[in-house]
Amino acid sequence: MIKFREEINVRPACVGAAGEEAPVFLRAEQKLAEIKNAGLYRRVTDLQYEDAVTARDRNGKKYIVFSSNNYLGLTFDPRVIEAAAGAVREGTGSTGSRLTTGGVFAASELEKELASFKHAEAALLFNTGYMTNLGVLYGLTEPGDVIFSDALNHASIIDGCRISRCRTEVFRHNDMADLEQQLQACKAEVKLIVTDGVFSMDGDLANLPELVRLKEKYNALLIVDDAHAAGVLGEDGAGTASHYQLGGSVDLQVGTLSKSLASVGGYVAGPRVLIEYLRNKSRPFIFSTFLSPSDTAAATMALQILRTEGKTLLGRLRENTALMCRLLREGGIPIADTAVTPIIPVMVGDAAKATGIDYALRERGILLSAIRPPTVAPGTSRLRLTVTAAHTEEQIRYTAEAMQKVWQAAK
Ligand SMILES: *Cc1c(COP(=O)(O)O)cnc(C)c1O
Repeated sequence: MIKFREEINVRPACVGAAGEEAPVFLRAEQKLAEIKNAGLYRRVTDLQYEDAVTARDRNGKKYIVFSSNNYLGLTFDPRVIEAAAGAVREGTGSTGSRLTTGGVFAASELEKELASFKHAEAALLFNTGYMTNLGVLYGLTEPGDVIFSDALNHASIIDGCRISRCRTEVFRHNDMADLEQQLQACKAEVKLIVTDGVFSMDGDLANLPELVRLKEKYNALLIVDDAHAAGVLGEDGAGTASHYQLGGSVDLQVGTLSKSLASVGGYVAGPRVLIEYLRNKSRPFIFSTFLSPSDTAAATMALQILRTEGKTLLGRLRENTALMCRLLREGGIPIADTAVTPIIPVMVGDAAKATGIDYALRERGILLSAIRPPTVAPGTSRLRLTVTAAHTEEQIRYTAEAMQKVWQAAK
């Protein structure tokens, strides 16, 4: 058995000759203390899921989960489970990058399905949505290009801008006049506009009609990250472009397999030439082992269910969202008018207060997320609920009532 460091009594590896701790250790200890003092310490809650929306912790306490991205509840659909279980017989891992030994039949087929779902010519899979944004922004750009990025874009877009090595202009959240001014002033030949379709912390939508007008006027490329929109928005669940009936007007659509599609992985869909270029150029695609056969199979089945039963699933998701919003509002809880997606933010302000409400709800067997800095700006800490198609009316009513009680008590 492996012994822990204390038991076998070794010196930590990071000490100097005189036995002093390496500077990075000292800094980590100091910063951790600062994080704890600010009420921003993060810990992992280990959960065991029993179905799409309930889970137990290590003490056996049961929770209704109102913070997952499992919008359609497909992680426990018997057909998705069966597909994943069946695919494991093709190996537990993919054994290599897509360009070496990981290029299995199922991956190319899933790419075709995703392209068709997104009304695009072609698609390329990555290992996560996070890596997709890195891969697209790194892969397409060269120094001298300019990326225009919404101020509230997801962290993976921000990181993608960083590794792209080109200039990034951040425009005020959904402020199209600000964006236009920046585009007008820009001399670069290659301009890219990148935005979340649905913003992950506020649940509001990008102003796609205006973004399309601007990208056409200034001959820029428009990239929309639809992680929270695919399987949620649009009659067919295809996302933000479909919601606005602007199919074909967005150049590149980024997505994830980890939210509505009940698996793990990411993809980008768009014109064939750009997809081909990314396959040749994008380091996050080239230098990482591809998804396992089970991941691919689960997402493929989830997509098939979305395409055949989407109407029912999306209907249930929208009904559940509407019910939760109505009950919370009736209970005097200030949720934004912009709440049109299953992401329902409840503004609290103070980080410690948000954490307090979070704990009080956990006591009552409800799991949602207190979102604090640095995920959101200081003073805008919030509770974030996400509703899924798999929640029952009873679970929604119980949660809205508990929220109301805890909210009153925290005033
Ligand atoms: C969740 C999310 C991602 C990351 O996707 P993963 O597959 O979880 O890595 C990227 N962009 C947005 C907007 C997201 O919400």
